[in-house]
Amino acid sequence: MSELILVIEDEPTLRDVLSYNLRKEGYRVEVAADGAEGLEKARRLRPDLIVLDVMLPQMDGFELARRLRPEITAPILMLTARTDEVDRVVGLEVGADDYILKPFSMRELQARIKAHLRRLQMLQASAASTGSLPREFVFGNLVIGVERREVLLNGQPLHLKPKEYDLLLFFARHPRRILSRDYILEQVWGWQYFGDSRTVDVHVRWLREKIEPDPSHPVRIVTVRGGGYRFEG
Ligand code: CA
Repeated sequence: MSELILVIEDEPTLRDVLSYNLRKEGYRVEVAADGAEGLEKARRLRPDLIVLDVMLPQMDGFELARRLRPEITAPILMLTARTDEVDRVVGLEVGADDYILKPFSMRELQARIKAHLRRLQMLQASAASTGSLPREFVFGNLVIGVERREVLLNGQPLHLKPKEYDLLLFFARHPRRILSRDYILEQVWGWQYFGDSRTVDVHVRWLREKIEPDPSHPVRIVTVRGGGYRFEG
C-alpha cells in the first residue's frame, strides 16, 4: 500500500493543489482544514508523513506539532510564509523535521517528501536487520542503546527528541571524524535538495546541553573551525 500523507492546511485552493498533486504522485492523501481536525486525524490515521501549515485556525501549526511530536514518529514538514519563523519551526518546542517556505514549487515539496519517506524506509530496513550496527555504543558514562533508541548518561536515561537521537547515533558511528554540516544534514536529515546548516547547529547545541559536562566548553561534540563537527566520544 502506498504511503499516507496528511495535509493540514486551511486555505482551500492550496489544500486542493497539494492533495491533487500528491495523489498524482501515487500517495494516499487525507486533508484537514484546521488544527483541531488535524490533531484528530493525525492521531487516528497514523499518517506516514504530515504536511503542516503554520497559520491555521483553532490551533496553529506550532501548537499542533508540539502536541503531536511526542506521540508520533512520522516526519512533520511545515509550511511557513516567514523566514523569522524558521528557528521556531525546527526549534525544540515545536520539533518539526523540516520546513518549506511559501511560496514553493510542487516539485520542491515532492522532492522533500520523497527524501523523508526514503530515509524512513532506510531506517526501518536497518532496524529490521541490525546486523550492521552494534547493539550499543559506550563512550565513558554515555551509553547509546541502538535497539531501544535509548541513551543513558551516568546510568540515567536522557530524553532525546528523535532527531537528537539520530544525530547522536550518527556521531557515534563516525567518531573522531570531521563531519561537515552539509554531510550531517544529508545523512541525518536526508536533505539532498536543500540544505540549511542552522538545523545542524541548533541540534548540536541541544545535544551538548544534554551530554556535555559543560555545554559552553564542549569536549564531546567539538566544533572544527571551517570544517564542521567532530565527535570525540
Ligand atoms: Ca494557513
